[in-house]
Amino acid sequence: MQQQIVRSEKSKVVGELAVGFAHEIRNPLSTIKGFLQLFQKEEQIESKKDQFRLMVNEIDRVNNIIKDLLNMARQAQIQQEKTDIKQLLDHTRQMFLAETDKRGIDFTFLNDSELPVAWVDSDKVQQVMINLVKNAMDSMPNGGELTIHTIESKTEMIGIIVQDSGVGMSREVLDRIGTPFFTTKSDGTGLGLMTCFRIAEEINGSLTVESKEGEGTCFAFQIPIYKNQPE
Ligand code: ADP
Ligand code: MG
Repeated sequence: MQQQIVRSEKSKVVGELAVGFAHEIRNPLSTIKGFLQLFQKEEQIESKKDQFRLMVNEIDRVNNIIKDLLNMARQAQIQQEKTDIKQLLDHTRQMFLAETDKRGIDFTFLNDSELPVAWVDSDKVQQVMINLVKNAMDSMPNGGELTIHTIESKTEMIGIIVQDSGVGMSREVLDRIGTPFFTTKSDGTGLGLMTCFRIAEEINGSLTVESKEGEGTCFAFQIPIYKNQPE
């Protein structure tokens, strides 16, 4: 598999983010403004249903971007706590089971070993899992296999592997993921992975990816364990 390790510095591009944000908001808004100006000169608005639909779509897009940005900017301090990762991942799977079923995706969670307790901000880890699962689902429009499994590494970390059998990524896409607003989706925001890389860094973990076009993608999310367990 083609390998690409994405460095976490990518998540530190605050200035780039501000510029990108302004740009992304300006484009859809100018589309809306253009149509509205056109309508001002028209008698029959009835015949402009398509443009109305487009305007609503564009407004939705703005809302999605703002929602993702706010999520990301929720600078809440990191709350590291003892976390049962198996329980957290079970919860992630439950959240998406109805949706994956509907889309013909076989979603499996393999966890056969006894894992140590993790030392993480569980809300943030859940946020990463949600983003990774959503992306995996998007990569399999005709169904496929989505597997999460855990491994205990020798480096006092737990590895959470998220593997899909989706469209995969080209070298060009791999090089750009995690950059603010980089998306290949018509309704994407390009903020999901950036948030994931940033969270991985904040909790002293890491996030790496391997992908091959036409075969699938595998994200490896390493999170720290709780070292001085009384048990
Ligand atoms: P968004 O999902 O809004 O596009 P992300 O930051 O979550 O933004 O992802 C950026 C891009 O990375 C996606 O548009 C897609 O091209 C690519 N990508 C991410 N995860 C996967 C995956 N599991 N399979 C294939 N491509 C992916
Ligand atoms: Mg995404």
